Amino acid sequence: MTTKKEIESIIQRQGFADYKWINPKDIVVARWVRVKCTFGCSDYGLGTCPPNTPTVSECEKFFKEYKSGVIIKLTKFADKNAYPSEWSREMTNKLLETEKAVFLLGHQKTFLLNQTCCTLCKECPGNRSDCKDKKKSRPSPESFAVDVYQTIRNIGMDINVISENPSEINRVAILLIN
Ligand code: SF4
Repeated sequence: MTTKKEIESIIQRQGFADYKWINPKDIVVARWVRVKCTFGCSDYGLGTCPPNTPTVSECEKFFKEYKSGVIIKLTKFADKNAYPSEWSREMTNKLLETEKAVFLLGHQKTFLLNQTCCTLCKECPGNRSDCKDKKKSRPSPESFAVDVYQTIRNIGMDINVISENPSEINRVAILLIN
C-alpha cells in the first residue's frame, strides 16, 4: 500500500514544491468555464480542448470516480506577449514523469490534467483521432470544465487574476490518483 509520503517524494523529485492533496469530489466543475473555452479562448478546437473533451456533466461524473488527487501549482515570472514555451514544455514533461511514476506504484487510475492545453506539436489537427502524440497529450483542468480559481481557493491555496504584465503567472495541474 503506497503512502502519501511516497507519492509526495515523487512529486518533489520532479521539483514541484507547491502542491496540496484534494478529494476530487471537491473539484468545482462549472458550465461558465466551458462557455469561456468556447468563446474567447484562442485554443478552442485544439486536440485536447473542447469540443474534443467530454461534456460538462460527464466531467463532473468523471471526478466523482476518484478518491484522491493532488493539485500542483506552478509559478513563473513571464511576459504574456512572450509566453515561456520552453518552460511550459519542461513542466509538462515533468508532470508526465510524475504521472508515470505514480501509476507504476500500482495506481492504475492515475491521470494527469496538465498545466496547459496541449501544445506539443507546432500544427495540431484538432481532433483525437489524428493526434500526433496520443501517449503524451493530456487535457487541462479548464478543458474538463474545472473552475480552477474556486477549486484552488477552497483548499486554502492562493490564486488571483493577473492584471499586470509582465508578472508572476500561475499554472495549475491536477494529478488524479485513485
Ligand atoms: S500532441 Fe500534438 S496533435 Fe496531439 S493534441 Fe497535442 S498538439 Fe495536438
